[in-house]
Formats: sequence, C-alpha cells, structure tokens
Amino acid sequence: MRLILLGPPGAGKGTQAQRLVERHGIPQLSTGDMLRAAVANGTEVGRRAKAVMDAGQLVSDDIVNQIVSERIDQQDCGRGFILDGYPRTVPQAEALGAMLAGKGLRLNAVIELKVDESALVRRMEKRVSDTVAAGGQARADDNPESFKKRLNEYREKTAPLSQYYAGTGELKTIDGMADMDTVTAKIEEILSETADK
Ligand code: AMP
Repeated sequence: MRLILLGPPGAGKGTQAQRLVERHGIPQLSTGDMLRAAVANGTEVGRRAKAVMDAGQLVSDDIVNQIVSERIDQQDCGRGFILDGYPRTVPQAEALGAMLAGKGLRLNAVIELKVDESALVRRMEKRVSDTVAAGGQARADDNPESFKKRLNEYREKTAPLSQYYAGTGELKTIDGMADMDTVTAKIEEILSETADK
C-alpha cells in the first residue's frame, strides 16, 4: 500500500498517518520529521535546511527527493509506505513519479484532506498548547508568523498538486473538517477500493 496524504499544515495528516501505521504496519515517511532529525543530528542536509525550515519556507526539491528515494529503498518500506508532507510541489510530484517507476512501483492513492483555512490557525495553537501541557517542546515553526508562511507556501506551491493528481486519476478528496474517526473511516474505505489486487 503506497499512498500520499495531501493537505495544508494542521489538516491532521500526521494523526491520520499514525493511525495508518498502526493499522497497516507500514511506515510513515514524513519529510518534515526526516528533515527535523537531520537538523537535530547536525548532518550536512540538516545544516542546509535549518534556516529555510525555521522561516516556514520550502527546502530545495533536490534535497527532499533524495532523502525520500533513499528512505523508500529501506527494507521496512517493502510492503508500502505513507508519504506525509511529500511531494510538496509539482516538480517533486514529477520526480516521485519517475522515482517510483524506476523502482517498479506505483501509488495506490493520493488522499487529500480538505479543510477550512480559518480553522487551521486554531488547530495549530491547540497543538502547541497540548504539546507544552504534556511537557514537550513546540516546533520552532509552530508560531503564528511561520504558520502563515507555511500556509502561503501551501497555497502557492502545494495546492496545485490537487490538479496534478486529479489529472492522473489518482486523487481522492475527503472532508478533513469531519471528526478524526470519520476521516480515518473514509481513508480506509478508499484504501480498500485501491488496494493491489
Ligand atoms: P512539515 O512537518 O511537513 O510541516 O514540514 C516542516 C518544514 O520542513 C516545512 O515547512 C519545510 O521547510 C520542510 N519540508 C518538509 N517537507 C518538505 C518538502 N517535501 N519539500 C520542501 N520542504 C519540506
């Protein structure tokens, strides 16, 4: 099962991806998580990505295409994976298509969580206060200013992916404003329709 979760920051992609990991035993490949790990570990990629990420802008396509390609080759991706936060631009989607074809793989589905943008800032603020209340530390880019930039980046660069995947016939859209369990059930419905026969 290979799928992409699409949707603006704060749409609930991470939560849904976690549920899919538990249910289907396939890994969540979050380029945001991978990049944050690279920053924390002080790798070359992390050093190049840090300032761009903190400002809420997008890291270069070359960097993310490469980390995803390497990650997909790892053994735990043999039964599939969930891409969360990648692709983020049409050129990344094209690179992903070529990358998968080169590995003899295809996507089962691209699932878009559609949400009302005004609700997203409230969701972000809640995520920060929940994290802090649980003794954790909020992400450096979870503040209103960076969040708005991330939303703008989404609108400009990522939203066109809906069009792109509608064109390939792979796009499935879900109401991301529904409660989490309803969203999960809808995703499962799509997956049962698009599973490899
Ligand atoms: P996320 O956790 O998906 O919200 O990603 C956090 C940040 O990591 C983004 O604001 C970008 O700076 C960077 N990032 C994550 N995924 C990508 C991607 N596919 N392309 C470019 N930058 C990315």
